[in-house]
Amino acid sequence: MPNFRADLHTHTCYSDGTATPRELIDLAVSYSLKGLSITDHDTVNAYREAIPYAKEKGLSLLSGVEFSSTLEHEPIHILGYSFSLDHPALLSFCSLHRAKRLERNQAILEKLRHRGLPISEEEFQSLLPSNISQEERTIGRPHIAFAMVEMGYVKNVQEAFHKYLGEGKECFVEGFYFPVDETIDIIHQAKGFAILAHPHLIKHPRIIRRLLEKPFDGLEGYYARLPHQQEEKWISAAKKRGWIITGGSDYHGGIKPANPLGASWVPEETFEILYQRSAANSST
Ligand code: AMP
Ligand code: ZN
Ligand code: FE
Ligand code: FE
Repeated sequence: MPNFRADLHTHTCYSDGTATPRELIDLAVSYSLKGLSITDHDTVNAYREAIPYAKEKGLSLLSGVEFSSTLEHEPIHILGYSFSLDHPALLSFCSLHRAKRLERNQAILEKLRHRGLPISEEEFQSLLPSNISQEERTIGRPHIAFAMVEMGYVKNVQEAFHKYLGEGKECFVEGFYFPVDETIDIIHQAKGFAILAHPHLIKHPRIIRRLLEKPFDGLEGYYARLPHQQEEKWISAAKKRGWIITGGSDYHGGIKPANPLGASWVPEETFEILYQRSAANSST
């Protein structure tokens, strides 16, 4: 199909995106995307609403998720695709991550209180965009940053990260992460593809070397508005290993306006590889 483009990295309000699954699908259709994957952090709950709606709109939807993991204390993001959406091990992996995040968020809010920047539980809940229940959605630092803006403590989300929430900053609290190997293994157990997300963000050469030896099925070679020269290194590393090269915008809506939907995408050949596995897993 000419002009086939599929954005494989997007977030909805089930994690730290601002669009509902329906709004995201409407936007994808209006941008003439033919394929989409929703890769919310630690949840696949958007798919309940997204599957029937994408079908209605004629958009091919691929199962997806994004996990934060760790290698030598370095945070490493891993995308899962094509897995079975009701696989028990993957679903408990998601739930455990979300529960640990609630503890971490409380610890961050506690640090902010000590720093003279209080946000009460009621205020925080009322400032969360959309009214999805706490059990269903993933709440992270971007939500706290957004609440800080609304409380008038900082000018914008970037300032919240830069001054308080970013790694090593005053109100930073370490997240709970599984090792890279275990995260890859869970995705494989659920019959999915495990993909190293936005590898250009990893700066340490030793970590990069070690990651390229891990049993990933591919890496994210096309990312948001990354200049092509920066993508080439990763694309050739993937080709050398026979890995799948994925791509997407990391769309988060209003929270990250610098990443417009469709900024990066994959062509039909790549999408088909992933989609066929996804279709096989959803029919079993
Ligand atoms: P969390 O998963 O709760 O640790 O939050 C990580 C998310 O925060 C990332 O996926 C980014 O979307 C966002 N983030 C991290 N650093 C920054 C930053 N400096 N400015 C804005 N957003 C950031
Ligand atoms: Zn995110
Ligand atoms: Fe990420
Ligand atoms: Fe992401």
